[in-house]
Amino acid sequence: CGIVGYLGTKDAFPILMKGLGRLEYRGYDSAGTALLNSNGGLSVYKTKGKVADLTAFCNDKDVSGTVGIAHTRWATHGEPSSVNAHPHYSESKNLAIIHNGIIENYADLKRKLREKGLSFRSDTDTEVLVQLIEYVQTKKNLDLLTAVQLALHEVIGAYAIALLDKREPNQIIAACRQSPLVIGVGDNEFFLASDASPIIEYTDKVVYLEDGSIAVMRKGEDLKVVNILNRELFPKIQTVDLDLGQI
Ligand code: GLU
Repeated sequence: CGIVGYLGTKDAFPILMKGLGRLEYRGYDSAGTALLNSNGGLSVYKTKGKVADLTAFCNDKDVSGTVGIAHTRWATHGEPSSVNAHPHYSESKNLAIIHNGIIENYADLKRKLREKGLSFRSDTDTEVLVQLIEYVQTKKNLDLLTAVQLALHEVIGAYAIALLDKREPNQIIAACRQSPLVIGVGDNEFFLASDASPIIEYTDKVVYLEDGSIAVMRKGEDLKVVNILNRELFPKIQTVDLDLGQI
């Protein structure tokens, strides 16, 4: 029920865990994170339970990396469990996704993907989306952004998502439709979250994404926001009042 992301020069993990803590009030049953480390690895760690359980689980794990995403889940499809917790890998484990919301036509998409030979590890609607994105990406040899745009054409439902691709390690792609998503724009760094509370201790520059937005965050580049037809949107970067007494 909460999304956090970081891309920049700092260690992502502590920022992500603190951010999940800020979103705990929204309620959840499990938590997880995915990190891209400097050796080109994409690690996913997830547990049923609290954010504190996730940090304890990660104690003896490699949590290095300056690009990462994290999630608290409120199960809608598939029981609360570590397998159903997010992030979800694609079949090849090149992609990892986190998702808030519901993919209404997931059963139909899942059946079609199974007919193409794909298998599923979890019972979630979310895993169907990441498998669909990879299927489109591989079949047509596309970059992640184009694959996300094509896959979202097929999706009915509500979502705020964030994705990592091991082969494009300096990038996070996020998208939303009928689920909130906020981007924080810092100096050479980006934050993303379900609301501004995990962001405003780092930057007062935020963008509230409109429905149908796909945000592309890349190291060394400005924020780019497009829609599924690849039309560029130019969202307003707002300066929020950093009155920390209010949170
Ligand atoms: N529908 C997804 C699931 O059940 C996401 C739930 C959420 O918003 O946390 O895994």
